[in-house]
Formats: sequence, structure tokens, C-alpha cells
Amino acid sequence: MPQAESLEAARRSIEATYMERTPNSRAMHGRAENSLPGGETRTATFFRPYPTYIAAGHGTELTDVDGNRLVDFTFNSTSMIHGHTHPNVVQAIQRRVGEGTAWNAPNTGQVDLAEMLCERVPSLERVRFCNSGTEANMQAIKAARAFTGRDLIIKMDVAYHGTYEGVEILTGSGGWGGSGKPVSRGVPRNTIDNVLVAPFDDAEVVEWLLESHPEQVAAVVVNPAQTQGGLRGPSPGYLQSLLHLTRAHGALLMFDEVITLRLSRGGGQELYGVRPDLTAMGKIIGGGLPVGGFGGRADVMELFADHHPPKLPHAGTFNGNPATMAGGIATLQLLDGLAFRRLSDGGELLGQAILTAAQRSGVLLQVIQIESLLGVELPEAGNMAGEIIELIGLALLNRGYKFASMMAVSTVTTEREIDGLGDALAGVLADLHPVVAHSAP
Ligand code: PLP
Repeated sequence: MPQAESLEAARRSIEATYMERTPNSRAMHGRAENSLPGGETRTATFFRPYPTYIAAGHGTELTDVDGNRLVDFTFNSTSMIHGHTHPNVVQAIQRRVGEGTAWNAPNTGQVDLAEMLCERVPSLERVRFCNSGTEANMQAIKAARAFTGRDLIIKMDVAYHGTYEGVEILTGSGGWGGSGKPVSRGVPRNTIDNVLVAPFDDAEVVEWLLESHPEQVAAVVVNPAQTQGGLRGPSPGYLQSLLHLTRAHGALLMFDEVITLRLSRGGGQELYGVRPDLTAMGKIIGGGLPVGGFGGRADVMELFADHHPPKLPHAGTFNGNPATMAGGIATLQLLDGLAFRRLSDGGELLGQAILTAAQRSGVLLQVIQIESLLGVELPEAGNMAGEIIELIGLALLNRGYKFASMMAVSTVTTEREIDGLGDALAGVLADLHPVVAHSAP
């Protein structure tokens, strides 16, 4: 186990360098604290001592408000699949913005993007657009409940489906099948009555939950690959078992593909060969603008048909807005077979570079790579792992790299940048060796 004192000393030294490099970010954060709680507006982007304010991003490079350049391996939580300001995407968005951004009527872009998604992801017979992955999950779950006439859902422990209170539930003290536990205050206590929690990659628990709640479960909601609490692919047969179980129990199978849609042309469901009833999407389908989308079987999605009155109202002032649609279309047009090969090769190279850096410095970093997604863990560091990985990230910012426990490569990420990160990481791990070496057995 690493020692807390040496970790704290390392943090002080790394933070001192960071503060020296980023006086404008520091000043901006000081200002922000007076109008934004904690100085931020997005939980996942805050880190100690204060986040870096970015002024611009081009390709793989971010420039902060102090003029420091950072090679990005986070890409806005994996959403900028072609890097920042890809010319095709920017031009498409600019063209649309110049013609207006929102009106009380449909636009042709929403039809074009819907057709593209339905063509690429065969389980999508119909789709609807919204403004975030959170909303996409919320609406798809609502559709499953409306279609089946049932209230319960089964979700996986630690799985993140956005900041919608209906899915902000973890396993409670009673274990699987016991009452769940809200992620935070503010989630109404009775929300747990509608959510059963199972471990990821364990179809037997799902089977048992379905059997012990006959005709009550509307949907089993799962990320085809676990992306929160450590990146994990499914064991062979797991997702197929969930499909068979949901069929047998009259429930729907819903995939949250907000992240995993980037894993192949047809998303995680194509990669793992399972066709869910419903899918929630986000991130890459909006060209870097706020977006969500959900869809699936035509008979389920028919609930949203805009008949008067619709069976399931789904309004949204900015749903399918033309600029987002244009960005999404340009993004998907660029995502051909060659692009996916580049993404996959880049992911493999990045994984190798991180592993090599860890081996060179004798630190037991574990790397999980699924196509263009990378997860980094420090299993031997116990409950200090998160803190140490955050510190590694801060030290890498000082060396010009934006790193996180969950990373991605883009179609414009180069081998040189990946090698550069590997070298910088080796240097950081060597510096931190006295702290992290305690994690070695
Ligand atoms: N589902 C998954 C798997 C996610 O990773 C995220 C966001 O990171 C969401 C849903 C929520 O998406 P958004 O942040 O667009 O609301």
C-alpha cells in the first residue's frame, strides 16, 4: 500500500509545478468560485487544485488560457472521435449555424442523421433525438416501462447512465436483490423501489432477479462494455444470455451505447454480436455539440409517434437541432472502415505505450483496451488508486499531456503523440516511484 504521507508530499510538489504553469487558470477558478458552486459546472471535469481552463482545441491539441499546449487523450469524455475542430465537422456546423439554429419545426438534418444511424446500427428501426446521454437513457427507460406496462428495471452496479435519478442507484447493504442505495442525496427514497441492481457480467444474478420478480421487470439496462468503475468487456455469451433472459421474461434488453457506439460502425452491439431492443446514444453522434439519441424496435418506438395525442410525449425545445445534426452527420460520414482500423490500431498502440512505461518504471499499472478505448488501473494500490491516478494525470499535465483513468484515441491521433505520452508517463512514474512502488507486492 502507498503511504499517505509520501503521496501528500508528491502531490504538493506536483501541484506547485502545476500552479506555476497555470496562473490564468488559477485566477479564473478563483473568479468562478463566486458564481459557480465549487467553481465548476460539470462534476467530472473538476480536479485538485483547480481545473485547467482550455481556450481552444485543434486536432489532438488543446491550448489552455496560459498558452500551454496539451496533447489530448480524453477527447471530451471520448466524444471527439475525430479530434477537435475537424474541418469537415466545423464547416458542416458553420454552414448550418449561418442558416439558423432552432425553430418550431423539423429540419432535414434530423432525417438524414436518423437514416444514417438506422443504417449503421441494425437494431435501430426508429430513433429520436434529445440533448444528452442522460436524457437518452431516461427516455429509453420510459419507453420500456410504457411498452411493457411494468415499473422495475435491472441495472448493473456502478454502471453510469447519466445524472438521471432513476438510474443513480447502487447495490445497497442487502446485496443483490436487496434494496439499492441512491448514489447521492436528492434521489427520492422511493426511486430504489423501481430499480434492481446486478453485478456486470453475471447473467445468473439477472436470471434470479427476473425469476424473483415475475412480470415486473420492464428492461435490463446494460452498457455492452462496462465503462465506469474500470473498463471491462463482457465475457463471451454474457450479453447473449441477457437477450435470452429478457425474451423469456417478457422484458426488453436496453444497451447504453453512449460511449460504446465508438467501438465499431454498429457500436458495441455489432462488436459483441447482440441486438438489443432499445439503445441509448450520445457523445460521438453530435459532432461535439450537445446531443443524445435513443431508438430501437419500431413497435416500441411507435409510442413516440407524434399522433394527437401521442402515447408518450417527448418534447424538447432543442431536440434534433440543425447544428448538432449537421455535426453528427459530418462525423459519421468520416467514420468509415479505414477510420475504425485507425482507431483500433491507435488504441492498441496506446495500450502498449502505457504498459511499456509502467514496466520501465516498475509500477503495476494495469491497462484495459477495447478498440479505441483505454482504461488504466492500479489494482495494488487499493483505495488510494483513484488518488494516485489523478496525481499521475496532474503530473502529465505538467508535461503537456491530458491523461485520465478512461481515455480514447481519435482518428487524428498519431503514433508520435502516443510514443510521447509513453515517454512522459515513464518519466512521471519514475518520479513517483517512491510513492507508487509501495503498491508492488
Ligand atoms: N451513459 C454513459 C455510459 C456515459 O458515459 C455518459 C456520460 O459520460 C452518459 C450516459 C451521460 O451522457 P451525458 O453526459 O451526455 O448526459
